[in-house]
This record gives sequence, structure tokens and C-alpha cells, in this order.
Amino acid sequence: MERAGVPERRLQQVVHPARKALILHGILAAMRRALVDPTRVARASFPSRFGEFELYGFENEVDQEEAAVLVKGTPPLDRDPVVRIHSQCLTGDTFHSLRCDCGDQLEEALQRIAEADQGVLIYQAQEGRGIGLVNKIRAYELQDQGVDTVDANLQLGFEADERSYSFCAEILKYLGALRVRLMSNNPEKIRGLEAEGIRVVERVPLVVQHSPYCRDYLRTKKEKLGHLL
Ligand SMILES: [Zn+2]
Repeated sequence: MERAGVPERRLQQVVHPARKALILHGILAAMRRALVDPTRVARASFPSRFGEFELYGFENEVDQEEAAVLVKGTPPLDRDPVVRIHSQCLTGDTFHSLRCDCGDQLEEALQRIAEADQGVLIYQAQEGRGIGLVNKIRAYELQDQGVDTVDANLQLGFEADERSYSFCAEILKYLGALRVRLMSNNPEKIRGLEAEGIRVVERVPLVVQHSPYCRDYLRTKKEKLGHLL
């Protein structure tokens, strides 16, 4: 087929695939830099049973991701604050599920941040390692049939872990927390933050008591996702 006398093959050559990839890379980089818009950040005082925090609300206009962030201390948080990136777990955090240890980890992290000089808890709205609430329940259904937590995600057509930490890194930069002591058992979180320019100067283990119901779940996280448990 010819358009205005230009052969089709010639049209396809106008933008070379490598050039297209470069343009796309530039657009994505620009979008990522715009993740936190300081004029759209909400902030309020937040007394809790763990102590006094400031509660921030951040919006990511690229994909509408939201994050609630509890902050101890006044930004810039430049004295190596303790930081926890907690992925939303409705079943664990709110319903006190025994299928995972998320609720206890959340409380332990809030306790440690409350006792510290400076600290941050980012509550990341990425339920079920990023697959969403209903898919997480579908994954539980598969686990009831003997499939482990990683294979369940794969069978549903997702990656074992769909989370991204670029928005979290932007939030930390906004708060002036460029060097952090990260409370985590997940080496992927450390790699994710460092790739986005946040220096993890220390990993603070976060190991809590857990029920027999989540023994297999934690063993899979250790063996297949490399968690340091
Ligand atoms: Zn959980």
C-alpha cells in the first residue's frame, strides 16, 4: 500500500524502532520525575496509640497511585531515619488475618518509628504484592488447594511480585530522607530504593511472632523470593 506516493516500507522506516524505544524511555523518565507534585501533598497532625506523627497524603498523577505516609520528626529527615515501606494488606492489617504476618509487622514498625528520633512509614496501596484485593483472594483460593503464594500469582497471570518502589523513593526524596535505615526482610525493596537514588545505610530486620497458619507462606517467601527470615 502506498500513501501519498510513499511506499509502506519507507513509512515504517521513518521512525526507527531503536529511536522509538529512546523516545519512550525519555517520556517514562519524565513521568517518573513528576511523580510527586509538592502542590498536591496533603498534611495533618496525627495522634495515634503509638504516639504523635504527621500524616501526609501523596498522589501519583501518572497512574493515580496514592500513599498515606506517617512521619516522625520535621523534614528534612537527614539523620538516617528508620523507614518502613508497608504494602497494604487489608486482610492482615484490618482483619488481623493469621495467613500472613503483615498486621504484626505494621504495628512493630509503628512502635519503632514512634520511639525513634526521625522515621517514616509509607503505606503503599499495592495490595497482594501489587495484584489487587480480589486477585489476592483468588490466590488464597489456589493456596487452599495446595499451591504456594508465588505459584498462585503466576497461575493468575501475574509476576511473583508486581510492586514498584519508584513512587516510594520520590516520597522519601520529598521528605529529605536520602539515606535511610530500612526496616525490611525483603532484599528486593533495598535494590528497588537504591536503583531510584535512595541510599540504604542499614537494613533493620523486622521479624515478628507468627501463627502456624502462615508457616508455609513465610517459607515460600524465604525460599522463592529471597526474604531474609
Ligand atoms: Zn498480609
